[in-house]
Amino acid sequence: MFLGHFAVGLAGKKLAPKVSLGTLFLAIQFMDLLWPILVLIGIEHVRVDPGNTAFTPLDFYDYPFSHSLFVVLLWSALFGLVYYLARRALLGSLVLGAGVFSHWLLDFITHRPDLPLAPGSQTYFGLGLWNSIPAAMLVEGLLFLTGVIVYTRITTPRNRTGTWSFWVLVIFLTVIWAANIFSPPPPSGKAVASLALLVWLFIPWGYWIDRHRVLR
Ligand SMILES: [Zn+2]
Repeated sequence: MFLGHFAVGLAGKKLAPKVSLGTLFLAIQFMDLLWPILVLIGIEHVRVDPGNTAFTPLDFYDYPFSHSLFVVLLWSALFGLVYYLARRALLGSLVLGAGVFSHWLLDFITHRPDLPLAPGSQTYFGLGLWNSIPAAMLVEGLLFLTGVIVYTRITTPRNRTGTWSFWVLVIFLTVIWAANIFSPPPPSGKAVASLALLVWLFIPWGYWIDRHRVLR
């Protein structure tokens, strides 16, 4: 899932209005920010396998440190704790911790059973929404639409930058998502991971938007 995670980040602004959108994006995408780095340095592995599910040609056969239930629970607690120590804001730290974990829940709904229980475990989770392209697009599209509506209801632009920085992000995310569905399979797992590093771009983008919008 891609857009669905950003939907949670946008909606998170309603739960914790004082937390920057950049920090919310960092939380909800934490697992997928870590993942390409771990793949590129050879700790985790992914291979191209057209038809793995209808939605993705990728076989996520080894990603226990970024995507196992046990380790993600640890990342969630750690993320919340670090935020609490830095800001002394309990609500923000709880929302961010839950935000990190929301990524696992959404991946659990979308992936085939490839999310491990823990490193070394042979127990895998995944409900497989990705087995149907229309169902996956509908669920993810509706989630994203909801996130955008919630975010634009709770914030308003401070200036012109606040308007276009946000709407360009919405369009850009949607285009990447659609291109991903309809483009041919990538040449290799490492190529996918290199491209996935681009997700880091959305963190400063989130902080930038946040500086140019105010709470209603
Ligand atoms: Zn993920």
